[in-house]
Amino acid sequence: FCSPFQNNRIERDALTELSNRPSFFRELNYHKKKGSTGHIILIHLCQLDKLNKRFGMKTGDSFIYNVARYLENLQVDYQVYRYGNTHFLVCGEFQGVDVTEKLVEEIYDRFRQPWNVQGEQWMQQIQLIHMYLPAEEMDENILTDRLNYLLAYSKDKNVSTKLFFNEELKAQYERKMYVLNEVKRAIKSESFRLNFQPIYDCTREKFLTAEVLLRLYTEDGSIISPGEFIPIAEENGLTDDISWFVLKNSMDFIIRHPEMPLEAISINMSINQMRKPFLDEKLKGLEELYISLLGKLRLEITENTIAQNPELVTRVMKVLVESGLNFYLDDFGMGYSNFSRVFGLPFEVVKIDRSLMQNIDRDEKACSILKNLVEMLHNADFKVIAEGVERETQVEKVKSMGVECIQGYYYARPMEESALLEFLSNCENERM
Ligand code: C2E
Ligand code: CA
Ligand code: CA
Repeated sequence: FCSPFQNNRIERDALTELSNRPSFFRELNYHKKKGSTGHIILIHLCQLDKLNKRFGMKTGDSFIYNVARYLENLQVDYQVYRYGNTHFLVCGEFQGVDVTEKLVEEIYDRFRQPWNVQGEQWMQQIQLIHMYLPAEEMDENILTDRLNYLLAYSKDKNVSTKLFFNEELKAQYERKMYVLNEVKRAIKSESFRLNFQPIYDCTREKFLTAEVLLRLYTEDGSIISPGEFIPIAEENGLTDDISWFVLKNSMDFIIRHPEMPLEAISINMSINQMRKPFLDEKLKGLEELYISLLGKLRLEITENTIAQNPELVTRVMKVLVESGLNFYLDDFGMGYSNFSRVFGLPFEVVKIDRSLMQNIDRDEKACSILKNLVEMLHNADFKVIAEGVERETQVEKVKSMGVECIQGYYYARPMEESALLEFLSNCENERM
């Protein structure tokens, strides 16, 4: 990372006088061609806005300048870059594990000590990530994605963190990249598929609704679960396309099957799908045929979605409920539940999470907890769907509690459209 022409070709960062990001990638390229093995330490100054707020931007700038000087003076055969506003890279040719470990420890230890900022002692938290780079991985695209991933991975902590990009992390990262590429491919080729899981209505003793569950079929024919790919799509701003696919295909399903015995189908919505562009452009732009069918659609959102932005969710729910869309509260009872927040919102139905069903037929305490919860929801005028019911003994328990609807493998697994139609018609025939 100390190329011979460094001084005349390097572009410098105005604030720190360090080499900047473009010059880092230029040198990376040079070393890739040379076939050398590198070592990279990324240092992120956490929550620098705290320092800026306390001492002002100018002092913030000179703090960054001082950190740059500190890093630069550490070792002669390493090069320091300003990679981003609060990101530094300390890079060099790989000189053995001992040498680099020592350097990592030295930097990490320095940030355990206070810095002198305008005569005050200032503790600066950092995120430190280090990795070895074989020549074939010295690639701008690979490294940009990887550093972004690692920064997100270790973000949002109030203490300094240190992370080594080991084989395990590398495997996780590569799986994520694979899933991300499959999501992008599926969006382009519209190769997602809808599955439907029928929901049993205990009072009317038939299947009256179904939940739409998305499936991603990879190029080699395997299936990636939405539990895995939805969060990755969210992080990468790809949910709008997916939501539109689900909404449009769910509507088309309703249109294609006017005689179907289901009264409604429910689709899952995440927080990004509640944000403006999707709702404004897509929902408001719906054709009249679609609008007339909104009454057959339910939207499922989780408490977690509400917690991420209660004002937004409250506002959007109000508008959509007025235009005839009803909401289900999904995964209720999973983790911490904020009853007062939930009770104030216009949910038609509350779906109680699978985790609360698991032992109700084996453990009295689990059973009485669920019973109380159902009673409380009924007192607040919500209808209840019990999720994840797998055994007959569980069915008996939830029925005895007066739960209105049941969803779970006991009655039906999620299935493709054709299987759903066959399933529903078999149920109808049995009733006759
Ligand atoms: P969810 O909304 O809680 O969906 C129910 C999940 O529980 C489904 O998993 C379903 O297959 C599974 N399940 C249903 N009954 C049983 C049972 O008796 N036992 C067990 N063990 N599991 C049962 P799936 O299809 O893997 O979906 C996982 C999650 O992915 C969903 O959880 C939902 O949060 C998300 N998801 C699925 N489709 C979409 C979508 O179109 N959009 C968005 N934003 N999220 C989706
Ligand atoms: Ca759901
Ligand atoms: Ca659920």
